[in-house]
Amino acid sequence: MSNSMEQVISFEVNDDDIILFSSNGVSGIYPARLFLCEIYERLSDCFERDIPCDEFFNYVDPRGAWELLSDFFDKTDYLQYATLKDFEEYRARYNISLDYKKGEMSTIYEKERSVSSLAALKRYSKELDKWRIFDKATADNAEYIPNIFRYYSCNTMIDFVFAMVHYLIYNDYRITRCAHCGKLFATKKGKKNGGELYCSRNSPYSGYEDKTCKAAVKAIKDKLEHKHIIEYERLRQRANEYGVKSKHYDVFNDFCETCNDYKDRIKKGASEELLKEYENFLFNSENVRPRYERIKNW
Ligand SMILES: [Zn+2]
Repeated sequence: MSNSMEQVISFEVNDDDIILFSSNGVSGIYPARLFLCEIYERLSDCFERDIPCDEFFNYVDPRGAWELLSDFFDKTDYLQYATLKDFEEYRARYNISLDYKKGEMSTIYEKERSVSSLAALKRYSKELDKWRIFDKATADNAEYIPNIFRYYSCNTMIDFVFAMVHYLIYNDYRITRCAHCGKLFATKKGKKNGGELYCSRNSPYSGYEDKTCKAAVKAIKDKLEHKHIIEYERLRQRANEYGVKSKHYDVFNDFCETCNDYKDRIKKGASEELLKEYENFLFNSENVRPRYERIKNW
């Protein structure tokens, strides 16, 4: 490997963002709750199908990283049951390095709070670390920000991905599948209903691709509810008009039952497929949207 090849040196992470410091400069900002998941999914895509995969910052052993990550995710049910103690044992067994500093933003040396302007300055991490030694007073007096972590142990791809795993465990995250797009994301443990259902990727739902999964689900549900109310009213009035012995009464009841069933299932997880199915029912099924209204006395 030549010296000019890019190497990750450290990364800085908080609940929202990850920034990578490499031998070539600074890259990011990446979404912290997706970053490791996207690396893992990309690795799985390749190695499950035996396709070589060497795109990760010139790390030599992405397959090893994938295998250990898969194993750790398996053992802990995607971090649901992972503790720092388990992590330490795992780390010792596989000789994974971990070196980090907590609470210090890389921007303290810049008198500048914005990481994106730091990125624009193209400061290299090595240089930044040198300043830490030369300017100890600034480092010591800097405001302590508890949810910022800086990881220096990025020597191998295994060290690099397990530094992110450490961050997630330390901060009480688990990894789960987005109920809308089906991809992995990190969410805090122990919230009501087991945390968030939807991730911050762009929705795959056609017409809603500019929204995040979470926002898209809300917007699609609102649209469907609007149509539901219109159809509900129309069918209800007709059922009233023709009475309980008419087929319209049954049509109305069936409509209500089907909609309630869809709405219950959607509440548990509004997958793209399920929303499409419900949308199709509300807009295209036989009773809800007649192709034509019968013209009386024709
Ligand atoms: Zn999603």
